[in-house]
Amino acid sequence: MYKDSPLIHLFETNRGQYIFDVNTNAIIKIQKNVFENLRNNFSLNSSYKIYECEQVKELKDRGFLSSKKVKEVVHPLSDMLEFYMSSKIKMVILQVTQQCNLRCEYCTYSGSYINRTHQDARMNIELAKKGVEFLFDNSRDVDSVHIGFYGGEPLIEFELIKDIILYSEKISNGKRLTFGVTTNGTLLNDKIINFFNSHNVLTTISLDGPKEVHDKNRKFASSGCGSFEKIKNGLENIKHNYPDFLSKVMFNAVLDPNNDFSCINDFFTSYDIVKDLYLNVSDITDDHSVARNTNNEDHETQLKYELFKLYLSKLNKLDKKSVSKLVERYYDHLRKILVDSRGFSSSMPDKGHPSGPCIPGAQRLFIDVNGNFYPCERVSEKSKIMQIGHIDKGFDYDKIRSLLNIGEITSENCKDCWAFKFCTLCAVSADGIDKLSVEKKLFNCKVVKYSLEEHLKDYCMLNEFGYSFEDSNIFKIVEAQNE
Ligand code: SF4
Ligand code: SF4
Repeated sequence: MYKDSPLIHLFETNRGQYIFDVNTNAIIKIQKNVFENLRNNFSLNSSYKIYECEQVKELKDRGFLSSKKVKEVVHPLSDMLEFYMSSKIKMVILQVTQQCNLRCEYCTYSGSYINRTHQDARMNIELAKKGVEFLFDNSRDVDSVHIGFYGGEPLIEFELIKDIILYSEKISNGKRLTFGVTTNGTLLNDKIINFFNSHNVLTTISLDGPKEVHDKNRKFASSGCGSFEKIKNGLENIKHNYPDFLSKVMFNAVLDPNNDFSCINDFFTSYDIVKDLYLNVSDITDDHSVARNTNNEDHETQLKYELFKLYLSKLNKLDKKSVSKLVERYYDHLRKILVDSRGFSSSMPDKGHPSGPCIPGAQRLFIDVNGNFYPCERVSEKSKIMQIGHIDKGFDYDKIRSLLNIGEITSENCKDCWAFKFCTLCAVSADGIDKLSVEKKLFNCKVVKYSLEEHLKDYCMLNEFGYSFEDSNIFKIVEAQNE
């Protein structure tokens, strides 16, 4: 991109041509000839010059098409890290064990990934207590903190979890406290349910779909048999004997493109017990995978069809009941970035950072069985660059600073990037285990830009068909005047 070229992104739907103007955050509907003019000039190999037609002049007069870019890629909180990390930690996630009673194909501990393997290691009570004390000691500026329990399979260590919940309640000193467990659901018995119910433990159960889908990947380590029946029986027990606990249960489904999409869709849309509960869908990850191909055209086609139905329902052309729970997150994400987070902006700042990273460790500090700190439970425990401290030594601020400023490794690309303000990449996207990987990050940049462009197109398409995002704060599409 040339120095003086406007920081914009051009895209089109079936019904119109648009500019996303990065400096102002505006989405501007333009005429086809202006679109072609801009597009052709962007692809020129000579110095940049837009043919100054009336509409381009008008857009410039109205403050659009600015070429202002960030001059230095630096995170605004870089200088305040020590203060921030000593007062605003919101969450710790304790890895209470690395053991699991299942061997799920795509589990990061299963051996299919290079970042983790199942081991016998477990967290001892002293370490777990230090973990929650660390949270309370470093959260004075937040009203509410969360303690999560993670594994392996955390319920193998139920007694430890119970002790830690009681201990946390004792030392919370009036601070609002919430708990969460991420479990494979096979060990949930009456004793555990009773305790979780009375201590408001939000319980996330991994469930991928109906028996034939779930059992393909989620098998008991001892027998190799699928775990679906066990989870189903546990859920029926909750439904009949602890109905009020159902409001604290949600599901996490890993969407494996090699499974039948419509079958999974039917299950979550119509199966008793699960159909009314919150479902979080995550895509299977290729990150650190030893060998896995997650591309499947049929899956993509079905996903797009369900997305099409979702948008039809938004336009009141289809009953909401026909919309798949598996695609609701797309609309939620679109709304979050293009409606809730897209306010007017006068221009790009001189110093800034792409929007992706959290403050590593403050958002969801993950403490492994040995007391090592990581930015969250999604990162690789084999990665030295992701180890941001230890319970006995505190935070390693140099490492946190480098993860927070992950944009630095691709700073020239970021300065020119039209996705700068809506980027979702954090250091995880550049984790090369031994070092931060520019190649890996740039590959992920393509995914971010593709996804943002799809959101922009969908946003405009919905507008073209008369959909209103019913919010007075929306920065609506700007119509350029006719020439
Ligand atoms: S995935 Fe990245 S941004 Fe999200 S919590 Fe983990 S480190 Fe933070
Ligand atoms: S998509 Fe890549 S180049 Fe663009 S802002 Fe994000 S990290 Fe930077």
